[in-house]
This record gives sequence, structure tokens and C-alpha cells, in this order.
Amino acid sequence: MSVDYDVIVIGAGNAGLSAAATLQRGGQRTLLLERHNVPGGAATTFVRGRFEFEVSLHQLGGMGGPAPLRQVLDEMDVTRRVEFIEDDQLYRTVVPGVLDVTLPADWQGITEVLDSHYPGQRAALAAFLELVRDVGLWQLTARGNLHRIDAEIERLTGMTEVRRHGLRSFREVLDDFFTDERLKFVLASYWSYNGQLPSRMSFMDFSRILALFVETKPYQVVGGSQALSYAMLESFTEAGGTVRFHTAVERIVTRGGRAVGVRLADGETVSCKVVVSNAPATTTYTRLLDPADVPPAVLRDLGSRRMGVSATALYLGLDAPAAELGFTTAANFVHTDLAEETVARGMRSLDPAPFILASCYDVKPNGGAPPGATQLNLITLQYTDPWDAVPVADYQRAKYAYAETMLELLKTVAPEVRDVIEEAEIATPITMKRYLSQPGGAIYGFDQDVTDGWLFHDDDIKPNVPGVVLVSNWVTAGGYNSTIVTAARMCRRLLAVL
Ligand SMILES: Cc1cc2nc3c(=O)[nH]c(=O)nc-3n(C[C@H](O)[C@H](O)[C@H](O)COP(=O)(O)OP(=O)(O)OC[C@H]3O[C@@H](n4cnc5c(N)ncnc54)[C@H](O)[C@@H]3O)c2cc1C
Repeated sequence: MSVDYDVIVIGAGNAGLSAAATLQRGGQRTLLLERHNVPGGAATTFVRGRFEFEVSLHQLGGMGGPAPLRQVLDEMDVTRRVEFIEDDQLYRTVVPGVLDVTLPADWQGITEVLDSHYPGQRAALAAFLELVRDVGLWQLTARGNLHRIDAEIERLTGMTEVRRHGLRSFREVLDDFFTDERLKFVLASYWSYNGQLPSRMSFMDFSRILALFVETKPYQVVGGSQALSYAMLESFTEAGGTVRFHTAVERIVTRGGRAVGVRLADGETVSCKVVVSNAPATTTYTRLLDPADVPPAVLRDLGSRRMGVSATALYLGLDAPAAELGFTTAANFVHTDLAEETVARGMRSLDPAPFILASCYDVKPNGGAPPGATQLNLITLQYTDPWDAVPVADYQRAKYAYAETMLELLKTVAPEVRDVIEEAEIATPITMKRYLSQPGGAIYGFDQDVTDGWLFHDDDIKPNVPGVVLVSNWVTAGGYNSTIVTAARMCRRLLAVL
């Protein structure tokens, strides 16, 4: 039977772009449909005055050396279209009056720096970081081999330390090795890259993130994530792929329980052999598909998941050079105190921001700010509930009041910033929900804590509805590296059976 396209990809986020480019370059006639007017989803930028602001990319992992993301982008012929900049440092962590530590992106360097701040920990640090490296690298490779998960589990049986610690909480393992709360705090700084506090995050997930950034180094993208999104789109269209923007899919059309096409918002239907959905898993299974076509076990599994954390972001265009403002590191974690409960409370309330990640894109300029100026992105993690409770009439006031608290915290590391603000834009979980169409405004998909990580779900191993494949941070770990790499891997597997 003839079809309009071999594959239709719904959504041009990181995962949708990666899927579309992989499939089209693999010889499948692919149609990419995106409801917005630009590609990227969260991987996008916006312009205010002289600045092009990065929406979501703070640090890109997986690019250094023969790393997984670089390999995928090389295969898609994307790398040569974009300029990447390696950060000099991993991050700087500050708790005013308590600690101020900058870590380099290498294992030995981390030991040296932390030992100089907190003497007497050298042996414990070396042992801990070796464990992080082993566990993290196992997870990174296992994720790449999920279709051979039995072999990976078999391999795991020989890795006693990974088995022993992998599914404990990150905090438990930290407590085994160290007593100094300040040292533990610095080591835990990347918790926000998965959205789980150290006591809720599995040691395995934490290790994956730290190992990724240390082994493959943190990178920035010239032109921001939008440049990367356009490069992936170009790879797709150059290979003959068709893209339609301003085109929302309303329904995945099925026949006999199998996907056979999509229906668009204007009623047009387009047929295909396989639908790849970059829309959230909940949306795909309950709104785009008729739930009657979805196995009850999948719906039950969905019902058991918890909505992930969202974010409030303050985008600042500053009329001064980064160095003059005191920024020497791209990623700066600033907390009010060492207590995890402070952050946990802040994630569920509109109390003053308990922590910010201040990303400076002009320590090594990525081109988003004009010469002599600085782009700074402050972000804190919050669930959507406290914002949902704000009456519409109070929303603007609440938004600006909250942003003020983020600026107050920033003042502790960069006191001059307030005097040089040229542009400011605020996005709350409400904005994330509206623009990204993500339930709960979630920025990494479902909450993946120690009880509910990627090992417990099989969405990215097998299709649950015939003819429908899901690719997004709702079926894998959140973030650029995992969404792009996982989607490419899943679609390579699809190519083998199409
Ligand atoms: C503020 C913020 C900060 C972040 N910081 C980092 C970071 O520093 N490092 C990192 O690695 N990750 C970070 N992330 C996470 C990362 O951006 C995401 O994990 C990733 O971009 C998600 O990609 P995706 O393809 O799964 O989804 P999305 O980017 O949401 O893409 C989905 C696309 O599908 C489209 N779509 C959905 N439904 C339909 C439909 N029915 N019809 C047509 N189109 C549809 C949407 O419009 C969208 O373009 C951050 C995210 C945010 C929001």
C-alpha cells in the first residue's frame, strides 16, 4: 500500500530533530512536523535588544573526544556546521560566607582542589571519584546498549562496586566517604542537572552526569542551542527531508491498533508506516493516541510516574564585560546555605530563591551578546504548583518579586550586576508549560529519583503501540546528550526493521 511518507516525526525538539535526521539519512522518506515556527523545542534562543538569549543550554556534555554525542552529531554531519567552545572549568560553587570553590574538569584536578580546601581527604576523594567514574561510565555505555540490556546486566554482575552503590542515593554514598558537609556540598553541585536533590537522586544518575562532564568536558555552542537545532534541521533537509512548521498534530491515526498516519489541526491527514513522537509520553499515549489503542500496562505505568521539576529563569543582558563583573567560570552554583531542606522547600514555594545556577555565556563568548556586553542566565528549579496557585491578576507582580530574590542571591557573587542590566526577561514554570507544551512545565520529563530511574522503565527499548516510537526526555534521561543520542540510537534500530 502506498503511503505519503515512510515516517512522520511529531515535534522538532532535540530528540525529534535527531530522529528525523537519522531516519532521512538512513533512506526513509521522512516528514517532520513542528507546531512552532522554529526548530529546537527547549533548544532555542530568543532576541531582546542587542542580545540573543539561550533558553536552556547551560553546559553541553558528550562532545569532548570520541564521546557519544559527538559521534552521533558526526554521523549526522552536524559537527562541522556548528562551532563548539570547551569550558575551562567544570563549575564554581558558592555559599556566601561558607565556601567558594571552583573545580576543573579532570579527576585529578578535582582531588587537588578539594584537598587544598579540605585537607586530609585525598585518599577518600581518589576512591570516591574512581567509583563515580566506574558507575558513571557503566551507565553511559549501558544506556547506549539498551537493546542488549541482558548482556549489560550480565556485565554488571562482574562490577561489584557498581552493583553495590548504583541504586543507593547519592547522599548515602557521599556520607560513606566523607564527613565534611562543605566538601560533600561542592561535589553534589550537579544535582540540579537531573532535578533531584542528593538524597533523592540515585548514585548511578549522579555518577553519569559527573562522569559525562569530566570525561567529555563541558562545552558551549556558538550561536546557542538554536544554532545546533538549525544544524540538525539542515542535516535533515539536505538529505531530502520535508519539514512543516506551524503544524500541530492533533491525532495519531490508527487502523487495527497500528499507527498509519497523523491528523493535523486543520483536519488534513497524512499517511505513513511509522510515527515517531517527540511529544511528551503522557500527551502521546492519552491525547494523540486513543487510549484504547494503548496497552493497559503502559497507561498504568504512566499513572505511576510523577511529574518532573520545572524552572524559573531570569535572562539578563548586561552592559559590561564578564570579567569586569567577576565571572571567570561559565557555570556558577550559588546557594543560600548548605541545607538540602532549604532547596526542597524552595522548589515547592515562592519563598526567596534558595539557589541559582548563574550561567555566564561570555567567559568565552558564544556570540549571544555584543562585544563588551554579557549574557547571564539565572535559573532555579521549581515545581509548577506554587505558580499554579497564583491568581492571574497577581502573576506579573509575583514573577518580578521572585526574580528580585534571584538577583539578591546573585549579588553575593556579582554585586555590580544590578547596575548594568540592559535587558531582563523572566520565564516561570507557567511559561515553560505554555511554550514547551510540557505537562507541569517539566524540563527533564518525569521525576527520576532513586525509586524511579530509567532502569525501571522500558519505553526506550521497545514500542508499546505498533507503529509508534517515542523519543524525548520523557522516555530517557533529561538533557541534550541523552535526548539526542537516545533518539538517534532508537531510530537506527528502527532503520533495521523498516
Ligand atoms: C530552562 C531549561 C534549562 C535546561 N538546562 C539544560 C542544560 O543545561 N543541559 C542539558 O543537557 N539540558 C538542559 N535542559 C533540558 C533539555 O533542554 C531537554 O531535556 C531537551 O531539550 C528536551 O528535548 P525533547 O526533544 O525531549 O523535547 P522538547 O524540546 O520539548 O521538544 C518537543 C517538540 O515537540 C513539539 N511538539 C509537541 N507536540 C507536538 C504536536 N502535537 N505537534 C507538533 N509539534 C509538537 C514541541 O513544540 C517541541 O518543539 C533544560 C531545559 C530547560 C527548559
